[in-house]
Amino acid sequence: MLKMVKRFFSSTLDIVYPSKCFHCGALLDGKHAICDDCFDTTTRITEGYCEVCGEDFEGEFTENPLCPNCNNLTFSFQYAKSALKNTAKNRQLVISFKYGKQHYLARVLAKFCSEVLLEDDRFSELPAPAVVPVPLHWWRKFTRGFNQADLICREITHQTSIPTKRILKRRRYTTTQTRLSRKERLKNLKDAFCVRGDLEGFRSIIIIDDVFTTGSTSEECAKLIRKEFPKVENIVVVTVLRG
Ligand SMILES: [Zn+2]
Ligand SMILES: [Zn+2]
Repeated sequence: MLKMVKRFFSSTLDIVYPSKCFHCGALLDGKHAICDDCFDTTTRITEGYCEVCGEDFEGEFTENPLCPNCNNLTFSFQYAKSALKNTAKNRQLVISFKYGKQHYLARVLAKFCSEVLLEDDRFSELPAPAVVPVPLHWWRKFTRGFNQADLICREITHQTSIPTKRILKRRRYTTTQTRLSRKERLKNLKDAFCVRGDLEGFRSIIIIDDVFTTGSTSEECAKLIRKEFPKVENIVVVTVLRG
């Protein structure tokens, strides 16, 4: 219990790297989570993805399509992009980080997001950007020990110099979303967030989360930012994985 309390109030986590690559077991220098080969061959979403929600499709593409879902949906954010494809290997990384308390994975997960932020024009050309982590309710943060989106944001800031602004707060405890439909998720999340602090000087907000599934969490956050910060011009979303 004491350990949990300490972890909750401490702003830094002790990050200890294992001596072997998370994926292939190759020996590492104690400063990385996965080896260079596994990093390079991690399947990213590079082409053939919905330009609104980031859902990826198999096949050859000359331009990015719009998925059937986004044809009849409107979001409060302009577009979302996930760095990695939803493969068993990629899921394992996120699950181990989030539920297996393998905090050392934060840096490499952030690195995949930073690639999107630095290399994709739709993100790298956004004026006056800040990254905003999707918040966890304090009770869930207490039981899990950390907020996964917050840790990823912190690493993104190190890697890209884009500041982290923790302006969202969860005011209501929400039940787990995993088994809910999009409609149920939106209902479950209604008024779940509130804002704190300001966004003076920032024109583009990049909402950061670990997984984008139906987009309902990002939507609730974006809707609130639009309402509370009308001066913000762009609201977009980047997640590690497409659920
Ligand atoms: Zn490896
Ligand atoms: Zn879509």
